Amino acid sequence: IFDECYIKSQIRAVPDFPKAGVIFRDIAPLFHSPKATRMVADSFIQRYVEADFSHIGAMDARGFIIGSIIAYELNKPLVLFRKKGKLPGDVITEPYATEYGTAHLEIHSDSLCEGDSVLIFDDLIATGGTLLAAAQLVRRLGASLYEAAAIIDLPELGGSQKLQDAGIPTYCLTAFA
Ligand code: IMP
Repeated sequence: IFDECYIKSQIRAVPDFPKAGVIFRDIAPLFHSPKATRMVADSFIQRYVEADFSHIGAMDARGFIIGSIIAYELNKPLVLFRKKGKLPGDVITEPYATEYGTAHLEIHSDSLCEGDSVLIFDDLIATGGTLLAAAQLVRRLGASLYEAAAIIDLPELGGSQKLQDAGIPTYCLTAFA
């Protein structure tokens, strides 16, 4: 069974990282605990076991961890959404503002087609910039968004609301106010 208090206890708050005034939510302790990792993965698998989407899009890099477990368990193709310059083939690129600056997200141009429906996944939603850029990439290849999902929401930064306002159903397992 999913125990939200336990999961939250496995996420470490690191003040002033990566810059002064930011409280970084570090999920490394969660992945260090097989029990917590399994609990998180299982609750997403349970949520999506009957769901009607074709692909999982996982965000570089911490989104890859649970994203790939979900893809493996549900036997769905995994699309890697990577930071700029990591993918060797033809790519499409989307710029976005992060909590800390500017970045670019890329996917291989042949990784999705019209008619595909994608669950986009990351470890955490802050400003929503990463998953909104991912949604743009999905749409640019003619595919549609099934849902945006993450382990952690930081609702005060407004990202999950922004995703919902953009018409993308959004789901997080837990939140830190
Ligand atoms: P957003 O694009 O502003 O929503 O930020 C989310 C992205 O930045 C995710 O890929 C996270 O891995 C990363 N990120 C931002 N803030 C944190 C944090 O406090 N802890 C862990 N990752 C974070």
